[in-house]
Order: sequence, then structure tokens, then C-alpha cells
Amino acid sequence: MGNNGNAKDNVPELKEYFSHLKIPDALSGFSESKYVIFGVPFDGTSSYRRGSRLAPKSIREAYDNLESYDVAYEVDFSESGMCDMGDLSVSEDVGEVVDEVEYVTGRIMGLNKIPIMLGGEHSVTVGAVRNLKDASMLIIDAHSDFRDSYMGDKLNHACVTRRALDILGPDRIVSVGTRSTSREEFESDRKNDVWFLSSAEVREKGIQSMADKIEEYLTDNVYFSIDMDGIDPAYAPGVGTPEPYGLKDSDVQYLIRRLGKKVVGFDVVEMTPVYDNGNTSMLAAKLIQDFVGSKETRNKF
Ligand code: MN
Ligand code: MN
Repeated sequence: MGNNGNAKDNVPELKEYFSHLKIPDALSGFSESKYVIFGVPFDGTSSYRRGSRLAPKSIREAYDNLESYDVAYEVDFSESGMCDMGDLSVSEDVGEVVDEVEYVTGRIMGLNKIPIMLGGEHSVTVGAVRNLKDASMLIIDAHSDFRDSYMGDKLNHACVTRRALDILGPDRIVSVGTRSTSREEFESDRKNDVWFLSSAEVREKGIQSMADKIEEYLTDNVYFSIDMDGIDPAYAPGVGTPEPYGLKDSDVQYLIRRLGKKVVGFDVVEMTPVYDNGNTSMLAAKLIQDFVGSKETRNKF
């Protein structure tokens, strides 16, 4: 752990977009990598507690404390083909940021590599989703994010699931952990085009049985977006818009383990170190390891 090095970088046309702080296990050069990590330090549309622009740095620093080897997966992350590009240079304009994320993730996925994006606020996810064809999406979120527009902006972080529905179409999105929805969203005639699975129902029926149903609902190509506020504030206090009565950290780990092999793109968003006690950035770092571990492992969960 903690080498913070990078063997080489042979992707000059993307290099100018990024700075240089790295995830310590992301030792691969771009061309031989399987997973391409990058941060998007943007929180321009966040309405309540800002600070998610500081999350990529805080997640990388937390990661520095994790072991490179995981006994459950029997995977050494330093040998699993991660390349950390650093952070995207972002403007103040959400439209430009989402366009840049679209471009970068499109290039990465076009080379059959898997983007791992560190937000930043949730709106950045829309850029990645724009590249998906015949794919489905699994979201962890306390909020339905289903407003057609918020504060006059269709790319506000309160509109992410709605924008994803525009792109992917009906019956392609499961959002897990829902417990905060405005009346406008609740009464939307498109609400049933997305499966909003509440944290209360997960608690009542158990994550294992719900995971079976989620797997049936989704296609074999899944984009996985984790808004950290989907997890209970007890586990993840450092978020922009906390909501009580959330998912357990291990519920999310279980979904990653069950569905990880199908995932073509992954992000962790809405983490805000300003309100953190250290646990949220550590959990975010661990979820990245769980994701790569689930892809790389031969073990069954
Ligand atoms: Mn969200
Ligand atoms: Mn949320």
C-alpha cells in the first residue's frame, strides 16, 4: 500500500485534462489498464451542503490506509490493472462538465476499459450514462432525483435519474435506498418507468432476496452509480444531503458483489469531506476496492 506511483502514461491526448494525485494501487499505465479512475471536483448545482468537489482528494487519501490485498476476493489490487488519471479540470458550468465527462468516459469505454469516477456531485453521472447503449443502470440514492428540472436547470443533481431515464428508456433503471421524494416527483406519470426500491423495503425483505429481483430487472450491461447519501448517515455522515433511515454499508457491498461482473462503469458521488468524520471517505475507498475485487475475483458471493 501507499506507493502512490504510476508506471507510465501513454495517452497524451487525454493527459492535459488531468492533475496528478493518484490512488496508490492504481499503478498501471493507461494502455494496459482495465480500470480507469478519475475525479470530477465539481459541486456547482448542489443545493444544501457543498463540498463534494473536495471528495476525490479525500477518497484517495483514505484509500492510502487500505491494504492492497483482500482475503475475501483473493485479489491484489495493485496487480488488478487500475490506472488513476487524476482529476478532470472542471469549469463552473454544469453543462460543460457533463460534456467533458461524456467525452472522457466515452473514450475510456470505447477502449473496453471500465471508468471509475470519483465525484463531485451526482450530476456528473449523466455524462457517463450518455455513452450507454442497450444498457441498464443501478443507482444507490436516498433521493429519487426525478425532477424534470430544478432551479431552472435540467442538469441539476436533483434530476439525475430523470435524465438517465431520458437516455436509457423505461424499465432499465433500479434506484435502491429511496426515502426522499417530492410530491411533484411522486405524482410524475413517468415514475413507474424506473423501479424505486425504498430502504424500508430492503430492510423488510432483506438485501439477498431483493438482489435476485434486481438482477432479473437489469440487463447484462450495468452502469452502477453510488450516491453516498443512499447509505445511512450513521455509516456515511459526510454527504451533501443526508437522510436518516438508509441502507447499511453491507447492503451496498452485497449488491456490488452480486452484480459487479456485469458492471461496465462505476461512480461514487455526493461525498462531502467537510461534514465527514473520516468514515465516509474510507467507505467510498472501500466500495471501489469491493467493485474491483468483485470484477477480478473467482470466488462466488
Ligand atoms: Mn443523487
Ligand atoms: Mn441523494
